[in-house]
Amino acid sequence: KTKNASEPEFLQAVDEVLESLRPVIEANEEKYRKEALLERLTEPDRQFKFRVPWVDDKGQVQVNTGYRVQFNNSIGPYKGGLRLHPSVNIGIIKFLGFEQIFKNSLTGLPIGGGKGGSDFDPKGKSDREVMAFCQSFMTELCKYIGADVDVPAGDIGTGAREIGYMFGQYKRIRGMYEGVLTGKGLSYGGSLARTEATGYGLLYMTEELLKCHGTDIAGKTIAVSGAGNVAIYAIQKAQQLGGKPVTCSDSTGWIYDPEGIDVALLKEVKEVKRARLTEYAAARPSAQYHEGRGVWSVKCDVALPCATQNELDIEDAKQLVANGCMAVCEGANMPTTEEATKYLQDNKVLFVPGKAANAGGVATSALEMSQNSERLSWTFEEVDAKLKGIMVNIYHNIDDAAKRYGQEGNYVAGANIAGFEKVADAMLAQGVC
Ligand code: NDP
Repeated sequence: KTKNASEPEFLQAVDEVLESLRPVIEANEEKYRKEALLERLTEPDRQFKFRVPWVDDKGQVQVNTGYRVQFNNSIGPYKGGLRLHPSVNIGIIKFLGFEQIFKNSLTGLPIGGGKGGSDFDPKGKSDREVMAFCQSFMTELCKYIGADVDVPAGDIGTGAREIGYMFGQYKRIRGMYEGVLTGKGLSYGGSLARTEATGYGLLYMTEELLKCHGTDIAGKTIAVSGAGNVAIYAIQKAQQLGGKPVTCSDSTGWIYDPEGIDVALLKEVKEVKRARLTEYAAARPSAQYHEGRGVWSVKCDVALPCATQNELDIEDAKQLVANGCMAVCEGANMPTTEEATKYLQDNKVLFVPGKAANAGGVATSALEMSQNSERLSWTFEEVDAKLKGIMVNIYHNIDDAAKRYGQEGNYVAGANIAGFEKVADAMLAQGVC
């Protein structure tokens, strides 16, 4: 803790994982201590920090900081997104990379854990400026990645446009056409259904969870936060399954739309115009726009936090419980604070953590890697069916793992245990490295 004192998000993520691994650790204490397994697991294999200089539209040189943390490759090449957001620092990237190890393990696919990004903010930048940044970022990053080494993907602020610019630069410098990034455009090696995968996967998980508790999505009122990639496709799939999502949000405000969110309009505002949610409200008479945060004050049956870390705190959790919410499934990474998570669990709210519930994105990225390796493209239906199978499988694995350690219904523990077991096994088998 002293060593990582300046990285609170990383400490929070490690604390949560180690706390729920307690029964597994106690059962194997001597072996793990002798092998220093936990010390090795919480120290990244390596981390890179680099300067990213680029020229803005006024001819002024700007300087950002780039990061890539290669956390653990015991079960496959490092895999994890690139976050472009002013809040990015090494502690955030380490927390995300650490979580990614267990998430990737849960998918059942051969991918290790990594994460990267920069404090660059694509918002308000021209296409040329974004390209200049991405090319400079990749000029350094390309030294450390490769199709069998480390395969980055998108995350907050990194969508198809940014991945395209980065892929172009990688190809140009390395002189190699390989599946080094996922989330690529369909014309150059991307996978159908990757755009939808995290949001759709979240709903497949939620549907299975509710089914195993005697109900389903149909007819449920759903509160969603965020208005980005995960939130949009979560809202779309929720509607396809008969649910009624009534909220969405961005970093300045939120929408309550009692008639149900109009996905086509939301996509137009966010994906095409890259505008604020005030534009959604202006075009939709049934919608109310509020400044600030407040999505969790809306009465709902199911809550899906899909924006960013620590966006659902103890006061929000109390409000959700008071309003009769039955399930919270995390679309974002660690959106619920530790205190709020405990409160929800203590009050019998079904709670599935992001590392299980949002694993559909990285799982489909791994399917993109498979398609790139065999130089084939699968149909949307094929990928979507595989995604659904993976999410249902993850639910049952985390449910079983929790039961095996006497913690039935604790999906936080179940996800950490199930994700950890495979990685620990591989690390022990591969000796001290
Ligand atoms: P996007 O950039 O597409 O959207 C993020 C959304 O969250 C935007 O509406 C954004 O609002 C809002 N947001 C971001 N930061 C903040 C903040 N500090 N406070 C309030 N709102 C904020 O990202 P994604 O949808 O891809 O990612 C959302 C979450 O899901 C992240 O935690 C990400 O790590 C996680 N995730 C994403 C996956 C994917 O496949 N995309 C896979 C697995 C997890 P604004 O536009 O105003 O910034």
